[in-house]
Amino acid sequence: MRKCIRCQTKMIEDLSVMVSNGAYGIDVRKGRFKGFFGKIKCAACPECGYVETYIEDTDKLKKMDCE
Ligand SMILES: [Zn+2]
Repeated sequence: MRKCIRCQTKMIEDLSVMVSNGAYGIDVRKGRFKGFFGKIKCAACPECGYVETYIEDTDKLKKMDCE
């Protein structure tokens, strides 16, 4: 469960980030064509409206070499 960092309310998770009037979703990658880490998901606070983004599956990020 995600809590809002501003007001500590339980956030609504698993929302999608979409480009307005265009393609679906935003990817997180290391390079332009390689290193796909996943689509950006979004959580929103129903109390104050704060929105944050996250990657659902963090396994690929954990295995990544940080140089
Ligand atoms: Zn909030």
